[in-house]
Amino acid sequence: MTNRSLAQPAPPPPATTRELRGLDLYRSRGAEIEHIGHGVYRVPACGGGVYEVNLKVFADEPESCNCPDYQRHKQTCKHVYAATVARAKARMRARTVQAERTKARASRASLAPLAAAL
Ligand SMILES: [Zn+2]
Repeated sequence: MTNRSLAQPAPPPPATTRELRGLDLYRSRGAEIEHIGHGVYRVPACGGGVYEVNLKVFADEPESCNCPDYQRHKQTCKHVYAATVARAKARMRARTVQAERTKARASRASLAPLAAAL
């Protein structure tokens, strides 16, 4: 064992094939992923059509997808991963918009006394 191996953090576990395929799906067709309800997304299917994905809204809820892969293996499929990325990106955009509104409001509020003095 060398000092170098102690100093470096363990590499993250390799991504699974389904994770990578979900990321590919998001990259190529993420714009087509549709949020249709509370944690429910329509995700394009590679062979045409769409699958309906239910993402966890609370930690103890199950996720699901009506694709054959999920139905057969009961494992997180690429559609669930793609919808998860879409949800995370949408939340990030919403947070950015909110932060900009807050900043604009704060800026207006700091100018109000100055404007009142004019
Ligand atoms: Zn699926």
